[in-house]
Amino acid sequence: MGTPLEPREEQVEEVLDRLYEEYPDSTISLNYSNRLELLIAVILSAQCTDERVNEVCADLFETYETPEEYANAPQEELAEAINSITYYNSKAEYIRSSCADIAEKHGGEVPDTMSALTDLAGVGRKTANVVLQHGHDVVEGIVVDTHVQRLTRRLAITEEESPTKIEQDLLDVVPEDDWQQFTHLMIDHGRATCTAINPDCGDCVLADICPSEKGDGDVDLASGEAW
Ligand code: SF4
Repeated sequence: MGTPLEPREEQVEEVLDRLYEEYPDSTISLNYSNRLELLIAVILSAQCTDERVNEVCADLFETYETPEEYANAPQEELAEAINSITYYNSKAEYIRSSCADIAEKHGGEVPDTMSALTDLAGVGRKTANVVLQHGHDVVEGIVVDTHVQRLTRRLAITEEESPTKIEQDLLDVVPEDDWQQFTHLMIDHGRATCTAINPDCGDCVLADICPSEKGDGDVDLASGEAW
């Protein structure tokens, strides 16, 4: 069990320093070549691996290009094209509806504000933040996915539980310049070392400042339960 630095701002700074060193090329792992492809890839990535999404999108982006093409695609046809993705039926509906709105209300362009994006079907704050950051270079929040949620709790950076509350809490303690990279670093560390089940604490660069470290600690602060 490591000892987190206090106050939380110092813990965040130390975590960031070490993870920047560990993952110097950390960035989004979805493949896309324009804002519409980014939006669609992010909608598809909910509860699904980026690897699977990239495989499906390689063909999908060849078949459909414009918002109108997605909006006018029959539901069964689009669902079939993405049927190896979790919740593919719902996601096909979201994509068709979002693309209809983009074509009709936004002149065919993916919107560049949080409120317009979150008005689109299937687009929550997390998806909107990714699209704003990587599609429009607008950073106005921190993307909180399952890795960010788990690691920030394990590392005693937050005690909040829901992604929305965690994001609000993080905005107070993570330097604004790091809002975008914070997510990517957490995701990289969550995939490589601090996995949901059986994290590799023995090989973790954060072990001495992590109160969930398994050595002689017995609680996973992400769940609040014993390891
Ligand atoms: S791998 Fe272990 S020590 Fe490292 S951040 Fe995760 S719980 Fe803490």
